[in-house]
Amino acid sequence: MFGKNLKLKPEYSNGKVLKVTNIFGTFQGEGPYTGYPSIFIRLSGCNLACTFCDTEFDRYDELGINEIIDIGYKKFSEFSDGINDIKPLIVITGGEPMRQNISLLCKTLLDNGHIVQIESNGTLISPDLPKDVKIVCSPKIANNKYYKVRSDVLNQTIAIKFIVSESQTEYSDIGDVGQKEWNIPVYIQPMDEYNSEKNFINLSLAMKLAVSNNGILSLQIHKMISIE
Ligand code: SF4
Repeated sequence: MFGKNLKLKPEYSNGKVLKVTNIFGTFQGEGPYTGYPSIFIRLSGCNLACTFCDTEFDRYDELGINEIIDIGYKKFSEFSDGINDIKPLIVITGGEPMRQNISLLCKTLLDNGHIVQIESNGTLISPDLPKDVKIVCSPKIANNKYYKVRSDVLNQTIAIKFIVSESQTEYSDIGDVGQKEWNIPVYIQPMDEYNSEKNFINLSLAMKLAVSNNGILSLQIHKMISIE
């Protein structure tokens, strides 16, 4: 992607069918649920186009809710070597997952006994999102300023995750996107720029910012253990 994706508007259908890029079993690699065995559901499209974005989310299949869940369980069973008696964390990500109406999918997964976590940029919310859904918000920048995170998103946000880089000056510090007023824990994660020297400098910056902002260092453990 790297800023080359189309910026897509929200598409709020009845939520029975969603545009899905990928579904897979893995460990959650970052943020407050780091290390949890998980099913990732990656939805297609984003309303922003960030220059550092390294995720592919353009292609998609249109899948019904039950189909998405069945594929998720099958993929998790492959990942876990057939261990099926646990309830993996569900991570709904993108792109921007709240560009689509994911509320029905979330409700079904919550009813099935899962923790449901959404990764969001904080600028959109799915209509009538169930209150038990946990949002991890990674705020983004336009014109050198963080987008303010919506208050209805902050209301369900359990962590704000800032991605920082020494060389991308707009991302070389963090801002207040609402975390202080809502008393939300802040995670600080070095940007992966696919360059070991830059990544080392970004790690130093993230450590420094975590200490100076009373934050928590977040590292992408799935990359360290070479899984998706
Ligand atoms: S908001 Fe996230 S998914 Fe969307 S372009 Fe930016 S980094 Fe990529």
